[in-house]
Amino acid sequence: MPSHDVLIIGAGLAGQRAALAAAQQGASVAIVSKVHPVRSHSVAAAGGINAALNPEDSWESHAFDTVKGSDYLGDQDAIEIMTREAPDEILWLEHAGVTFHRNETGHLGTRAFGGASQARTYYVADITGHAILHVLYEQLMKHHETVDRYEEWFTTALLQNDEGHCVGAICRNLRDGRFEIFDAKATILASGGAGQLYKPTTNGLIVTGDGIAQAYRIGAKLEDMEMVQYHPTTLAGNGLLITEGARGEGAQLFNAEGERFMEEYAPNKLELASRDVVSRAEQTEINEGRGFPDGTVALDITKVPRKRTLEALREIVNIGRDFAGVDITREPIHIRPGMHYIMGGVKTDVDGLTSIPGLYAAGEVACVSVHGGNRLGANSLLDTLIFGRRSGEHAARRAVQMTMPSSSASRVKDAEKEIAEILARPPEGRRIGAIKNELGETMNEYVAVFRDAEGLATALEVIQRLKEEAAKAPVDDRGSVFNQDVIAAIELGYMLDCAEAIVVAAQERKESRGAQFRLDYPKRNDREWLKHIDITVNGADLPKVSYSPVTITRWQPEERAY
Ligand SMILES: Cc1cc2nc3c(=O)[nH]c(=O)nc-3n(C[C@H](O)[C@H](O)[C@H](O)COP(=O)(O)OP(=O)(O)OC[C@H]3O[C@@H](n4cnc5c(N)ncnc54)[C@H](O)[C@@H]3O)c2cc1C
Repeated sequence: MPSHDVLIIGAGLAGQRAALAAAQQGASVAIVSKVHPVRSHSVAAAGGINAALNPEDSWESHAFDTVKGSDYLGDQDAIEIMTREAPDEILWLEHAGVTFHRNETGHLGTRAFGGASQARTYYVADITGHAILHVLYEQLMKHHETVDRYEEWFTTALLQNDEGHCVGAICRNLRDGRFEIFDAKATILASGGAGQLYKPTTNGLIVTGDGIAQAYRIGAKLEDMEMVQYHPTTLAGNGLLITEGARGEGAQLFNAEGERFMEEYAPNKLELASRDVVSRAEQTEINEGRGFPDGTVALDITKVPRKRTLEALREIVNIGRDFAGVDITREPIHIRPGMHYIMGGVKTDVDGLTSIPGLYAAGEVACVSVHGGNRLGANSLLDTLIFGRRSGEHAARRAVQMTMPSSSASRVKDAEKEIAEILARPPEGRRIGAIKNELGETMNEYVAVFRDAEGLATALEVIQRLKEEAAKAPVDDRGSVFNQDVIAAIELGYMLDCAEAIVVAAQERKESRGAQFRLDYPKRNDREWLKHIDITVNGADLPKVSYSPVTITRWQPEERAY
């Protein structure tokens, strides 16, 4: 039975950064991932990572932009920590081997990103996540004596002792279907976001909200779940991302009448207003009949010099050609807002501690809350690394003071029974894929850029019916080797839990703030709603709602304009 000081579930940027930090503190570490670590979804991150590293920039400016971007829902103590620690993190990455872009003077070069008052996004062409993830993995290899990697292992549940403390997890080896209990003095969830519960989404198939649901099921608080980000530039139909880096390099948005419509919605920042603002502007143009017949507007990347596009945006040149049949260096490409990121997640403090002792969370699975109502582009990679590192360090320090817990082997029997029950489902039920499609389309219709009470009520009704159907959904593969059918059945349960939490929180927040725009409550209402909505499990009933205060240190809420 594996036992470690620190167990990390997830090997994207947050998980690998946490593993390195814990190992450097001398802890023994296990890092578990349902896919090979370098296939974690962080590999898709494109445009870059923010830091106020230039002498003419300041962490205060970065922090204020982030607070404003969050529509004043972000916790300012956490934002201060993230933005203060950002420059050192970039330098650490550079020294570790990340080949950040250099400008003509040989210095680290930046590009502009939305909602930022300075160009402070550091990047590696449009493959920044790929570049950082591979360097972290190389660094992890150096620590092979203290970091055990469990690649292609799937965590099904978190384990608690009699006092309710998290003492590890139960995981299934995907190669042979064998379950193991992983005992740990501290467990860090780094299992990413929940994009797949929307259709379409920019997120890969593996991003199914596992960690959010696993923490929720053992009683952890979720926070800001209503805040789901729609990215302004995704391809219609398949949801593939055209990085914000394109607008950062100078690309412009036009409606079907040839108008550069952002002049009306955000006269100062135009296409580089924050994502919620640009997505709402696009959706308004489309809804009011000024979009193209395919429900899109146009992104004109020909405004960027061709040489620069080929050098700095080469991935989206490929995406445009392969997935839309468009040469973006010569003609505009049709785009629309698409689901991209979840600001909410497992509620943590600035060291990653959740409301369950022994359980930490970092990265997209977590809500610190540094993004509040709306994340600024290129602040997520930063969040994964800063709070991944802080969680790893804190968890390692905690582990030193503890004896190794040990969970009952009967938990393996319980897990095996759950799998046997899935395998034994009669074949008549509705297919997992069909249920997942209906969930995604429902969320995209009713819990998207614009929301209202009626649509949210419809979404909740659908989710509850889908939960019943999911409990009976049959699987075809009855084997134990890489049985992805069984995994899909388990993931569907996680996605439905996340969807329910999102809808309940969106119903609760009766105002418009950040990514939550309520057509029936179109104004921000600081008097009643300048607070976080927290969600906890409530047996088989709808989740329980409570509130927690927003931490305000130096920036008082004011009207937000770009
Ligand atoms: C297309 C795209 C482009 C983006 N570009 C940028 C950008 O330029 N800048 C920026 O700041 N942000 C960007 N983002 C957002 C950013 O990439 C993500 O928020 C971030 O990478 C998430 O990292 P993570 O470590 O939290 O999770 P992930 O990288 O998603 O890793 C999750 C890990 O958890 C594991 N896991 C999940 N469930 C289980 C389970 N049940 N059992 C075992 N393991 C499990 C997975 O295998 C994986 O290793 C982008 C996002 C997308 C989709």
